[in-house]
Amino acid sequence: MKTTYCSHCETILQDVYCQHCGQKYINKRLTFWNIISDYIFQILSLEKSGFATVLKLITSPKKVVTNYWNGYRNYYQSPGKILFYFLTIAGLHIVLVNTKLFDMTIDISYTSPQFGIIFIIPLITISTYFTYFKQKLNFGEHFIATTYLFSVFGMLFIIIDDLVNYYLKLNFDYFNIQYLIVVILLWSVFVYSKNNKWYRLILNFVLNLIVFVLIISVLIGIIYLAGGLNIQD
Ligand SMILES: [Zn+2]
Repeated sequence: MKTTYCSHCETILQDVYCQHCGQKYINKRLTFWNIISDYIFQILSLEKSGFATVLKLITSPKKVVTNYWNGYRNYYQSPGKILFYFLTIAGLHIVLVNTKLFDMTIDISYTSPQFGIIFIIPLITISTYFTYFKQKLNFGEHFIATTYLFSVFGMLFIIIDDLVNYYLKLNFDYFNIQYLIVVILLWSVFVYSKNNKWYRLILNFVLNLIVFVLIISVLIGIIYLAGGLNIQD
């Protein structure tokens, strides 16, 4: 058998996947049919993995988040990927359904208005960082967890809101930014809590909520003192 080398890292190939860099080698001439089947396979596997990660983040957020913290990659989609899904859905919502995102008016004159909303990620991260400081996780680790939770629930809020309020024409005003933050803090409890006694979980949630409100108050205070605050609802 003729030896083949990986075109990327020049390792001798022993399998269809390069054991060094993971590149796949297909020992066949391209045909129109395998181009089409490759396209379909790529799209479906991306969707499948994204969908599986989103579901897992809802049912057991700790599992996905700690997996990423511990350095495992490519089984679950990365937080950046899930955030990208969120931005895509938020963008589609703004263009096709409503310029309001989570019940807030987003200025459409920005090139990518949905990017404005992600300022909420560092704010929530600061609040979980203070609430769960005993876990001795660094800011980056907290940031990963918040990015995951914000992206998943932000996406869900937009999709359910569009279905319920624009498609079914019902009137549920619960898909606003306040409730989104509450849901993210609630799921953070399951990510960070070591003790699983129900009263500890509730206590952690309430504490985190208080810390978050304090951070927002301080921020508003600073902006107010710095001169000029225009609160519009
Ligand atoms: Zn290689």
